[in-house]
Amino acid sequence: MRIKILGNGGFISSGIPYNSFLIDNTFLVEAPPDVMVSLRNHGIRFYDLRRIYLSHFHGDHFFGMPFIILNLMKQYRETCSPPHPIEIIGPHGLREALRELQQLAIAPGHPSVDCIDELFRFVEIDSTSRVKLDGTKHLIFHEMAHPTPTCGFSVVEDGGYLFTYLADTVWSDSFIPVLANKPRIVFCDLNGAPDDAIKQHMSERDIVEKAIPVTGTSTRYIGVHLSEVGERDLDFLHYSRVGEEYEIG
Ligand SMILES: [Zn+2]
Ligand SMILES: [Zn+2]
Repeated sequence: MRIKILGNGGFISSGIPYNSFLIDNTFLVEAPPDVMVSLRNHGIRFYDLRRIYLSHFHGDHFFGMPFIILNLMKQYRETCSPPHPIEIIGPHGLREALRELQQLAIAPGHPSVDCIDELFRFVEIDSTSRVKLDGTKHLIFHEMAHPTPTCGFSVVEDGGYLFTYLADTVWSDSFIPVLANKPRIVFCDLNGAPDDAIKQHMSERDIVEKAIPVTGTSTRYIGVHLSEVGERDLDFLHYSRVGEEYEIG
């Protein structure tokens, strides 16, 4: 399994490309407003995507969808019929959220709104869901601590945790049983600072003081959803850079 960082910024950021990453070239995780730019910058054709994951319906995670949808419609010459199914995974209300956003982005009666039903196979998930990936891998989902329903996930294979994504979230002790499985790599929201008066995101202190004691040193933590690039790296905790790739398994 290969993961590539397309962008690493959170909603609050200095203007760095917004948080999204790609698993095995065809599985897009998050669709921020600049997702078409990020895909193009990394040589990824949007019409090659087979699966899209949206952790929640905040703008920095799904406002790129109208651009993907309209360009898919044009790519398939207005027929809205991709030659392969595109699975889109997200919280409950996924279809309605996409339709509402598309109407706002273009116009209520625009054909791309109804095209959504033809382009995608919707998979609405919560923390009890399990989705089959290629081969023997599965996705399982974890509830994040965020003001709107938000799920992170793990990629599991034969009971082992290959990868965990802790999306937009503050620290929650509910992560402890997940991390106890010692995922090889954890992507984690690091938009917060240890001295924030109001905590809305994790910071490196959460990882150092609460997560690493659970996993030990066999897990690598990669900070995504950042406010700025070029922040310092610690043992077992690295702030992602755009374009980096991680090989797992
Ligand atoms: Zn966010
Ligand atoms: Zn959010």
